Amino acid sequence: MHRMTSTQARHRRRAVLQSVVDVGAVCAQPRALAPGEWFRKDGEGIGLWRTRSRELLRVCAGCPAMDACRELALRDGDGEAHTDELVCGGMTGQQLARARARQTKRLAAAVAAEWRQLADLTVQLHREAIKNPDKAGGQRGQALAQAAQNTQARELAAKVRQIQSARRARTGWGEAA
Ligand code: SF4
Repeated sequence: MHRMTSTQARHRRRAVLQSVVDVGAVCAQPRALAPGEWFRKDGEGIGLWRTRSRELLRVCAGCPAMDACRELALRDGDGEAHTDELVCGGMTGQQLARARARQTKRLAAAVAAEWRQLADLTVQLHREAIKNPDKAGGQRGQALAQAAQNTQARELAAKVRQIQSARRARTGWGEAA
């Protein structure tokens, strides 16, 4: 079976997100605000910008492409933690930066937990592989013990594969998203 690489998956996901934005973006409609209006202008006072950005957030809230737009903004690294200067995907730049940081931490924690789980499962799998089936119970007992051991090894291997697949999928699809 042909498997998609993580890079291919990431590119495909981006193309899907971009097409949703291309079709649905309220800010790209003919009578929408000019692109530059979504950024704080040079010399624009913070009070005026906050008033404008609240209005921009209201526009985003009614945009059918908001989720896709936000995911693209997160993937593209839009927004900075200490600079209030843009609105995109229903968030200010600072909110985008915070959301990205939260997701990075959550992703890192999930990856660390999976590494631990993978290491434990690999040790268990190794133990099962080198264990001698119980000799008690004669030939039939030994065959049953061997069958049980094989089943256990198969289940452990399946769990390892499941975790590895989840990791590959997340690397392709879920980075900062
Ligand atoms: S969510 Fe906001 S910035 Fe994104 S496409 Fe819609 S209107 Fe434009």
